[in-house]
Amino acid sequence: MKHAFLTKSFLVATALLFACSLSARKPFKTLIVTGQNNHNWQVSHLAIKNILENSGLFTVNVLISPAKGEDMSEFAIDFDPYDLVVVDYNGDSWPQTSMSRFEEYAKKGGGIVIYHAADNSFPAWEEYNKICGLGGWEGRDENAGPYAYWYNGELTRDLSPGPGGSHGRQHEYMMNARDNEHPIINGLPNRWAHAQDELYDRMRGPANIAALLYTAYSDTETGGSGREEPLMFTVAYGKARIFHTMLGHCGPSYENNPAMQCTGFQVTLLRGAEWAASGKVSQKIPKDFPSSTFITYRYDYKEPKKEQK
Ligand code: ZN
Repeated sequence: MKHAFLTKSFLVATALLFACSLSARKPFKTLIVTGQNNHNWQVSHLAIKNILENSGLFTVNVLISPAKGEDMSEFAIDFDPYDLVVVDYNGDSWPQTSMSRFEEYAKKGGGIVIYHAADNSFPAWEEYNKICGLGGWEGRDENAGPYAYWYNGELTRDLSPGPGGSHGRQHEYMMNARDNEHPIINGLPNRWAHAQDELYDRMRGPANIAALLYTAYSDTETGGSGREEPLMFTVAYGKARIFHTMLGHCGPSYENNPAMQCTGFQVTLLRGAEWAASGKVSQKIPKDFPSSTFITYRYDYKEPKKEQK
């Protein structure tokens, strides 16, 4: 009996210790800005919120803008309380106050995630385009900056004229690492298969890319550019830490959302978000990360429970 009691106390103590070590680091305070998008923002922001919160590393507030065409003048955003701002917004202009505050937040060293169609937004807002590095659609052309793509072993900036932003039909594709040293992708496979998604191509912008993390080949057979396109990178802007992921086209529902249910999308988002919030990545490489031959999914937007030994 005594032995059983000791074992039990030991287990309780270990569990407590574990809980304490988990809570030792305060979660990163995160704001998702959403409410207008040419995408299913009602699902995407919820998926992002749950991916971040299920990791235990983030607490997330969601700010929903007025609907498209409504009065935006009262949409004053306070970014200062946050370690991380995730932009899941593609819509009407923010009021000048929010624009200025966002620029200040970034320049002072804020953490930012630019997610998928957020890089379509605000074509005329110069500083925002510098925060994204590359953008597309909404009338973007050579005036927005060069095309940028991987060519001959380096990131090439191409000033030739033409529209910015397109994609072929959705398909599964291979992600190719271009910077193994960066904490966001250090330890991840050099090549991994991504679930069915859009593959943004012919993006243009200031192209102030700091670390190019992953590219993917946009095949003309799927209606693409025939170029190796930059899909995930960090951006050089003041003291900001900016993680830009072009992946994650939102599906029709929370349950049917393969691009965001892809483990590769979720893990790179989590790592990019932690790096943007803190400059470090403490997460281990999870066992369920995809390989070059297997796409893996987290259908409920969290890491599967560890197998009991
Ligand atoms: Zn999309």
